[in-house]
Amino acid sequence: MKKSTPSPAFSFSKIYCSLFGHNYVLSKNVTHHIKEYSCSHCGEQATTNSRGRLEAMTPKLKEINNALASVHAKKIAKNKVNTAFQVAS
Ligand SMILES: [Zn+2]
Repeated sequence: MKKSTPSPAFSFSKIYCSLFGHNYVLSKNVTHHIKEYSCSHCGEQATTNSRGRLEAMTPKLKEINNALASVHAKKIAKNKVNTAFQVAS
């Protein structure tokens, strides 16, 4: 007996997406302007680039987004500290 592989369903998603386009849903807020999306059908990832347009995710873009996310998180943390200081003084 052969085990059934999950690939037919997966490739069907790919075909569906190539026919009707990806159904991107928000997966992560990187910054206020840059967001990551993944397709609910095939899991394909995309991100908004510096010009605000949707672009297919690449390892390079992922790296940039991770760097931006950590800078953004630090900025938020800093603002919180500043606000707290201003309120306290
Ligand atoms: Zn898709």
